[in-house]
Amino acid sequence: LSSRLFLTPYGGVNSIGGNTFLIECGSSKIFLDFGLDFGKHRSYFDFPLNIPKTTSALVMAGVLPRICSHDGRRFFEYCEIERGEGGREWKVIEKPPEENFSVIVSHAHMDHVGNSIFLPSSVPIWLSTFSKIYLTARYTVKRGGTLSRLALSNKAKVGESGLEKPNFEILRNDYRVFRNLAPFKVQDFIVEPYAVDHSIPGAFGFILRAGGFTVGYSGDFRMHGVAKDFSKAFVEKLSGERLDYFLCEGTNLGLNQVREESEVESSVEHAIKRFFDCGGEHAIVILSQTNVDRVSKMYGVARRLNLNLYLSDEIFLLTYYILASELRERIISPLPALLKDPSLEKRAEELWPGSGEVKSYGVLVGKDRTLVNKRLKELAEKLSLNCVSEEDFSRIPSRSLILLHGQPSLLDKRFSKNSMLIVSTSEHEDEEALYELDRFINQAMLLGVPMLRVHSSGHVSVVDLIEVIGKVRPKNLIPIHTLYQNFFKSYFERVYGVNVILPKEGQTIAL
Ligand SMILES: [Zn+2]
Repeated sequence: LSSRLFLTPYGGVNSIGGNTFLIECGSSKIFLDFGLDFGKHRSYFDFPLNIPKTTSALVMAGVLPRICSHDGRRFFEYCEIERGEGGREWKVIEKPPEENFSVIVSHAHMDHVGNSIFLPSSVPIWLSTFSKIYLTARYTVKRGGTLSRLALSNKAKVGESGLEKPNFEILRNDYRVFRNLAPFKVQDFIVEPYAVDHSIPGAFGFILRAGGFTVGYSGDFRMHGVAKDFSKAFVEKLSGERLDYFLCEGTNLGLNQVREESEVESSVEHAIKRFFDCGGEHAIVILSQTNVDRVSKMYGVARRLNLNLYLSDEIFLLTYYILASELRERIISPLPALLKDPSLEKRAEELWPGSGEVKSYGVLVGKDRTLVNKRLKELAEKLSLNCVSEEDFSRIPSRSLILLHGQPSLLDKRFSKNSMLIVSTSEHEDEEALYELDRFINQAMLLGVPMLRVHSSGHVSVVDLIEVIGKVRPKNLIPIHTLYQNFFKSYFERVYGVNVILPKEGQTIAL
């Protein structure tokens, strides 16, 4: 076979996140992930007063990379947004790409998929069922600036037909779903998706085959979460291959504390129990809405301590969409029973024997002014859940566990007299990385809200990584999603004799 394989990194090298890898073989082109680099974004922009308003600002800042084929041709342009006549409507300006290409998304963290909304709507973007449902929920309850409107199609208006089902029509881009272990063809590439464990469901690693070459891509993964058996099966599969390239993440290199998810659960439970024993009324947990396993763990805590469970609108809608879709059977962790279904209770009872259902459920909703907020309220009422304003926590009953996505501004909220904050976000994976934790801490301290950080990494630990590379032994190892790519060379080359290629942004590696 005469075709060569070209790999050009446009993000996700020497940094954590922003993964964007162009792979070319013959006339076929695919991107592995199309993520936003929070670090680059933060270098030029800030929320809420200094957010980018045009695509060209992002291109100028390098947040959207200037992408070329290996032989230097520009083959597509990013979409731009303009305010239409009358100043109310928004118009997306897009051009069809000059050459066909596709994107394969490993998982729905913004540092892997965030920049995909800038692509022309004719570009196929392959992702998992969960990723598609999440993007739909995310852009239904959006908190972003002007540019997040690029995500939305003009075919369907958000919330118009109610929120009872995820309405995929609201998304402008062509998101297509692949399934675990079901290979699919993208131009001349065969893509094999393998589910892995990460701090978000629907996370995948891939094996790609084209022109006689085999490439492995780890995505983000860990060997220590609820779905670790999936990661193990992927590593087994990889070790049976002679991979020409293995692109593998190294997020946890350097000094990192790796804890088990189960430790997160028990330390939160212990802290909340003692706080409530001292007269505490509310325990507010800050987590990422996509960390579904963590939401499940908090649900377990609420059951065992017989608490009320209140969810922010983002967490509520995503949880509801999982329960209302085919994912209900596939998600391993038991989720808050927003729908009455005996099988949900059975699973919770199996995992947490002796625990009963939580005392009551509630949803935090913003002001009525928007259609989406009205629809959220309607949905919550239909499900017989309590509805409370997200501005006023003092109306939430005592002994409640409140789950929030991201770090809200605290000074304009009303709290109960005795609340506690537990920060349980994972690293580098959502837009909370854009905001400064410092200000959040200062506000909490000013208001007299005690804080606690409880965290478990979404990424592979260093010892697990050593074991994985020892098994896979690719011909060429390419470190990605790490601040310490040199470690790969100085360790894996020396200890295992694996050839390590240190990737550089925009520089093509040819095979
Ligand atoms: Zn991730």
